[in-house]
Amino acid sequence: MVPIVGATSLLAQASSDTRSIPVDSPAFSLVVHGGSGTITRATVTPELEAQYRSAIERALLAGHAVLHAGGSSTDAVVAAIRVFEDDPLFNAGKGAVFTSEGKNELDASIMDGKTHMAGAVSGVTTAKNPIVVARAVMDKSKHVMLASAGADAFVKAQKLEQVDPSYFFTQHRWDQLQSAQKREMVELDFDGKTENSYAQAPQSWEIDHKYGTVGAVALDRDGNLAAGTSTGGLTNKLYGRVGDSPVIGAGTYADNATVAISCTGTGEFFMRGLVAYDVAARMKYSKLSVSDAVDQTIQTELTDKNGRGGLIALDAKGNIKFGFNTEGMYRGYIQNDGKPVAMVYRD
Ligand code: ASP
Repeated sequence: MVPIVGATSLLAQASSDTRSIPVDSPAFSLVVHGGSGTITRATVTPELEAQYRSAIERALLAGHAVLHAGGSSTDAVVAAIRVFEDDPLFNAGKGAVFTSEGKNELDASIMDGKTHMAGAVSGVTTAKNPIVVARAVMDKSKHVMLASAGADAFVKAQKLEQVDPSYFFTQHRWDQLQSAQKREMVELDFDGKTENSYAQAPQSWEIDHKYGTVGAVALDRDGNLAAGTSTGGLTNKLYGRVGDSPVIGAGTYADNATVAISCTGTGEFFMRGLVAYDVAARMKYSKLSVSDAVDQTIQTELTDKNGRGGLIALDAKGNIKFGFNTEGMYRGYIQNDGKPVAMVYRD
């Protein structure tokens, strides 16, 4: 029996939804997210919900095909995230949000739980699939992270799929930038008076920032974990801003001894709390279950500090945990039986 443990919420800390999913043979498993935020039945139309569910299922099936065929967890993570990156619904790849300068600067990372190797890119502007570039940084360079112009040069040098930056234009993200700029003038006024405004008013980031970062964690037939995350960052982010998603230990982490994690939410909080690694550390040093570790991390590193967001976690035995303190998180999982399960709301 592999337990699936549900949401932690600001509104219902005590009502996590715990279910057990029977698994007949040695488990392989894939868990994905497509961002967390103000996702409620009142804010998501049935049509949009159906589109999200269908995308989550397609990502799960893409990763499942890899795992079912005996492929590695890292390959499954890349396969699932690519589906999201090619879908304009998500804030990753094609649907990336705009910076304050009206550009798209993409971040992604991946970590292999067996080898502890990791790769990341930040501020890449010409890669169709940033997760593929992060994977190449891990496999084909001696570094962990390449940034900005260097990351774009690496895309070219490795002959990875390049696109013109205009590929990332979507009208709905552009409209989000326009309304975010009207509202967030105060937050972006780094004149010394408002330098803590991200911490003081995280909700205002979320008014126009519907999240949509994507991530995947997988356990393969050989018992190896992997985690990956891909994002356009935050709408209206300042020039050069890098969030948690490409930072190993903040937005992404995997260790076969403990857990694989991918995060989503206001990255500044995840960076300050090293949220992904914090879950692993609670399991490693305090011997907590994945469920308890995630609950504690969300409470102490996010909720207590006014941070908003969520994460997916998969431990080395196949236990799955979804943790978020927002109203909803696009998420899902698939196991040996090949049946994708997509979820949107807290209940
Ligand atoms: N964590 C991402 C960032 O701060 C955004 C998100 O997850 O929506 O860049």
